[in-house]
Amino acid sequence: MENFDIRKDLEDGLKNREFQVYLQPKFDCRTEKMVGAESLIRRVKDGNLIMPNAFIPLYEQADLIAYIDNFVLEEVCKLLQKWQQSGKYCYVSVNESAKHLSNKNHGMEVMKILNRYQVSPQLIELEVTESAIIQDMELAKKAEERMHELGFIISMDDFGVGYSSFSVLKNIPIDVLKIDKIFLEGLLNRRRFQIILESIIDMAHKLKMVTVMEGVETKEEVEYLKEIGCDVLQGYYFDKPLPIEDFEKKYLF
Ligand code: C2E
Ligand code: CA
Ligand code: CA
Repeated sequence: MENFDIRKDLEDGLKNREFQVYLQPKFDCRTEKMVGAESLIRRVKDGNLIMPNAFIPLYEQADLIAYIDNFVLEEVCKLLQKWQQSGKYCYVSVNESAKHLSNKNHGMEVMKILNRYQVSPQLIELEVTESAIIQDMELAKKAEERMHELGFIISMDDFGVGYSSFSVLKNIPIDVLKIDKIFLEGLLNRRRFQIILESIIDMAHKLKMVTVMEGVETKEEVEYLKEIGCDVLQGYYFDKPLPIEDFEKKYLF
């Protein structure tokens, strides 16, 4: 598709309310209590559910990703306001494309949305992917510092799959290390893999970061992650991403 068609397609989708936010719960590793959720976008077009990998990269290439990220943030802020009014507290993470994060209007845009719903940044975690952070380290560093100072929780998503994970850690104030699910592959029967994961978690704790393991699918993985002191778990073992109403019914109300 040409950029023009991609923009038209995105505008149509927003206008026709085809985009929907799903929430996948996250759990405290020790107590297995729900502690927060990640927002993940879906599109329902002509009755079909379309997953984000089919459209996020297109919008990123066409420089339109800010529309999606702002849409998701606004939906999340509406929810946080509603929950707060009913005395429910739960932090929610949103995925932020680094392309959007590095935009000079980013901080202002984000705060405008939060102010509209009187939501505190402390309830929002920004998940930024490492590959995206790398593209322009200086710009990303400034943007993350700015968001960190505003009070947002900063999370490095997909940790460990890029080439420069460790150099990013050296330079950017990160609160949460979200370890990529690839580290779970073959983990339980390869001591070599375990040593690497244990070292990552140990390092994160020494740097005062909270560790999150994504893609947890089995009881055995949960037991092992408990043993090595991972803080937060997310994955199909606990629950899949749910439509907002289902999430609320199951976990909040
Ligand atoms: P991600 O941020 O790494 O999200 C985790 C993906 O793993 C999600 O896929 C989630 O549904 C899936 N997942 C959760 N538990 C398990 C599990 O136990 N096993 C396995 N195999 N997978 C699991 P999803 O929802 O298809 O999202 C794909 C990617 O699209 C996300 O990866 C994120 O990079 C991007 N994305 C989604 N929503 C947004 C958004 O609002 N804005 C931006 N910029 N990107 C988004
Ligand atoms: Ca994520
Ligand atoms: Ca991830």
